This record gives sequence, structure tokens and C-alpha cells, in this order.
Amino acid sequence: MMTPPIVSKRRGRVAVAIVTLMALLGVVSRIFSHTAWLQGHVELLVGAGGAIFLAFSAYVLITERALAARAREANFRLCPHCGYSLAGHEAPGRCPECGKAYDADLACMWRVFAGKAL
Ligand SMILES: [Zn+2]
Repeated sequence: MMTPPIVSKRRGRVAVAIVTLMALLGVVSRIFSHTAWLQGHVELLVGAGGAIFLAFSAYVLITERALAARAREANFRLCPHCGYSLAGHEAPGRCPECGKAYDADLACMWRVFAGKAL
């Protein structure tokens, strides 16, 4: 069963943000690698890298748990593309919010996602 696109897109954006910030950290450390200040504070850069990773991991955990809670509240009938509640709408169909199509295995996909996001 596939992951809802709204979840995969968010995870992709978070991965890009982490890689970008780590690369920036690498560039900054390279630029300042010969300064006395950096040589005395390498642990700050390592700590900043760890903090970036932990902050984004916490963000993913919190937002996915909130989305799983919303899916449960909507009886596992959320638009897989935008998260709009499709309670009372036929499946398959088109989301009234984003206009994208969703199919009949919508509830199954959200149940699997919500089960993993506990
Ligand atoms: Zn939608």
C-alpha cells in the first residue's frame, strides 16, 4: 500500500531541507576552517548538524501524528493529496478542495499510515 502523496511530498521537502542545511554547514565550516575560532569550536558545528537533524525529525513526527489523528477523526477519508476531509463524499471521486482524483482504497491507505504513525 502506498503512502499518501501529501505525506511523501512533505518527507521529500524535509529531506531536501536537511541536505541543504547540512551542505551549508559544510560550506561554512570549510570557509572558516582555518580560523582560530572554528578550530576551537568544532563541536558547535557538529552540534548544529545534530540539532538540525533532530528538529526536522521532530517536525516530521509531530506533523505525521497530527495528520494520523485527523485521518482517524475523518474515518480514514482524507484527500491523499491535500488532506481535506472527504467524509460524506463518494469514493472514487475528485477532491472538492484540490480537484485531484482519489480512488476507492483511500481508507485502506490512511489506515496503514495511521497505524504506522502511532
Ligand atoms: Zn485534495
